[in-house]
Amino acid sequence: MEKQKIIQAGEISKKIKEYAKSIIKKGVPLLEIADKIDEKIEDLGGKPAFPINLSINDVAAHYTPGHDDETLAHGLLKVDIGIHVDGWTADTAFSLDLENSEENKKIIEASKEALTNVEKSITTESEISEIGRIIETTIRSKNLNPIVNLTGHSMDQYDLHSGASIPNIDNGSDFIFGEGLYAIEPFATNGVGKVKDGRPSGIYMLQNQKNTRSPIARELLKHILKDYSTLPFCSRWLVRKYGTKALLGLKQLEQEGILHHFPQLIEISGGIVSQAENTFLLEKNSVTITTKED
Ligand code: MN
Ligand code: MN
Repeated sequence: MEKQKIIQAGEISKKIKEYAKSIIKKGVPLLEIADKIDEKIEDLGGKPAFPINLSINDVAAHYTPGHDDETLAHGLLKVDIGIHVDGWTADTAFSLDLENSEENKKIIEASKEALTNVEKSITTESEISEIGRIIETTIRSKNLNPIVNLTGHSMDQYDLHSGASIPNIDNGSDFIFGEGLYAIEPFATNGVGKVKDGRPSGIYMLQNQKNTRSPIARELLKHILKDYSTLPFCSRWLVRKYGTKALLGLKQLEQEGILHHFPQLIEISGGIVSQAENTFLLEKNSVTITTKED
């Protein structure tokens, strides 16, 4: 673990959250928000650990604007940001109500409070199921449901999901956290509390590195290996660099099994979903929440 880089990524993520809050308003195009945030991350000396997720209402996660996206910010908007410094990641999310809706505010408060309760109790000695139980109990006490098939995750260098999952429910696991880097992310909904795969997101990740014959696919693959390595990226970034022919290359790389294409994740009953997330560096005698504002 390279603590200094982990802390640096966290510091950048805090500034990006503040910046995001200053530019997001109802009616602003998601594409404009994403482009500005991409630029700001670079200005601050970080790199995106994954494309910013701007998921609205029943889309729980994995929505990032395409190069020609026309969606305007509205509803309950989840902003999920990943920053890395040399592969060491800060993963953090917050939710905004852009409708002045009491129901939205209540759903947002539930995931936020669940995360706050985790922050108060987590140590290296915590059981994973105990943290899941805290999230579940907090959200259910507000007559809402946690999303049962979305989880937090341990992280390692250039690896966003390095093995351990942290559920939003008590799953009975007696696994102990121990030292490490973890993202914990309660999701709350007024729906039944489960997500299914939706339409393709335009977010991809390298899954099987092998040769491809198509010239454009080869060019993309070279760039992907160099700039993103094993971290997720999106079609918007590649269209910016190569024009729309990048879409053809991406399709070929997906068909050849070289890239994994993530689906959007949609609440199965159409419920409105909120998310709160912070990154925790757990060390023997200390807990550092790297992405939390003072
Ligand atoms: Mn996240
Ligand atoms: Mn995460």
